Amino acid sequence: MDQKVPDLQKDQCYIDGTWVGTPSRAVVDPATGEQVGEVPNLGADETRAAIAAAETALKGWRALLASERAALLHRWYALQTEHVDELARLMTLEQGKPLDEARGEVLYGAGFTRLAAEQAGKILGETIPTHKADARIVVIKQPIGVVGAITPWNFPNAMITRKAGPALAAGCTMVLKPAGVTPLSALALAELADRAGIPKGVFNVVTGDAAPIGGELTGNPSVRMISFTGSTQVGKLLARQSADTVKRMALELGGNAPFIVFDDADLDAALDGLMASKFRNTGQTCVCANRIFVQSGVFDRFSEMLVERVATMPVGPGIEEGVAMGPLINDAAVEKVETHVRDAVEKGARVLAGGERHERGGRFYQPTVLTGAGPEMLLWNDETFGPVAPLIKFEDEAEVIDMANDTESGLAAYFYARDLGRVWRVAEALETGIVGVNEGIISTPNAPFGGIKESGLGREGSHHGIEEYIEMKYILMGGLDG
Ligand code: NAP
Repeated sequence: MDQKVPDLQKDQCYIDGTWVGTPSRAVVDPATGEQVGEVPNLGADETRAAIAAAETALKGWRALLASERAALLHRWYALQTEHVDELARLMTLEQGKPLDEARGEVLYGAGFTRLAAEQAGKILGETIPTHKADARIVVIKQPIGVVGAITPWNFPNAMITRKAGPALAAGCTMVLKPAGVTPLSALALAELADRAGIPKGVFNVVTGDAAPIGGELTGNPSVRMISFTGSTQVGKLLARQSADTVKRMALELGGNAPFIVFDDADLDAALDGLMASKFRNTGQTCVCANRIFVQSGVFDRFSEMLVERVATMPVGPGIEEGVAMGPLINDAAVEKVETHVRDAVEKGARVLAGGERHERGGRFYQPTVLTGAGPEMLLWNDETFGPVAPLIKFEDEAEVIDMANDTESGLAAYFYARDLGRVWRVAEALETGIVGVNEGIISTPNAPFGGIKESGLGREGSHHGIEEYIEMKYILMGGLDG
């Protein structure tokens, strides 16, 4: 086993402040196929024990002063930033993204912990004008309780801190199931939580098969909320499984982002934005540009610029210096990309660049540009989750808004334009929770991130994110004249 980051690399789960379980599930580097670590294969029983620990810890944790919880979260944040290089290296080894991107994600992820620490003391109640002279209406905010969190592999660090930060700040405790292929980043965060002095049972991490762990998290009545980031399909399943115990759901699900370039756009800026939005994380982000609409007046020029830029993109293992794009996460991901490209070509699309597995072999795929994509193709209706940029020519604003909204997903959209009237019209008409105007990267802890339609429920980040983890209690104080 390659022990390149022994300090933070754990091979056991973290339950009730103790490292438990026998390492038995291999963690594999997607760039090489080599094993980089092992973690336990826990199931429903251990998940139940973790939930019980979280429930026991809840009493003490929610009773702490907000400033005490904030101090512990500030310490966790400091440790995350102090260990940015180790966390990034660990992430690149298990997930494949270039080291610079991994570093960026760790800092982005730490930002959620910092924000949460700052917000712990800002959860404010209210008094409301009364309906009765001898009574007063007061609203207090309380933690919802034990939270079950399930996270994806594409952002192995930030998707966890985006949940754990606000949950813990609000006074909740958590049982986390990280993605099966990227458990090491999650366990490293648990190690840092332990070092920060976060009390036992407050943050627990369980690794193993998804179905039994997910079944226990969704079925156990002690869990009051499920916070999930992942595919729409699994999100729907978890919502169904949680219905019997009426849990609160926070769902950050799949996307199918339109990226629109209008005739009046700054094309250089649009190209930079598209490269970042499309090819970051090898096209494996929920907010990736999935369908790229370019207005007819600039279509030829923009597609040439894109093909030229894509041709010089360094592809390779994320651990290598200077690499801009790493491998796909697994063989199934490569097959999905191949299927989308084949289907598009069969239905009339043309390959302008790439279109095949990369010469580096394994899970590497060429950065790809297609032209002539249309609604009958798989890639129009489903996120490709790979480095494929399908171009679609359009004539006018009304037409492109209809095409952009022609999806059940509603997470992110992007457009490049300079006309102020158009900017407002289009931003308001796009059916998504997030719109990037003349920007290709929209993620920041400061803003409310989340989707509409089948892309999810609730928001993460900003001062809104913490509200998901809070219950409102109305107290009517009567008999005050007596
Ligand atoms: P996924 O297959 O839905 O998996 C996400 C998580 O759910 C993993 O931890 C997975 O565990 C778990 N899971 C799978 N089946 C389960 C079950 N039956 N019960 C309980 N848990 C279960 O998604 P993914 O492939 O990891 O991530 C990619 C998807 O996430 C894309 O659709 C992307 O758009 C979306 N995403 C959305 C956002 C957002 O903020 N909206 C952010 C990032 C990603 P295993 O790994 O063990 O199977």
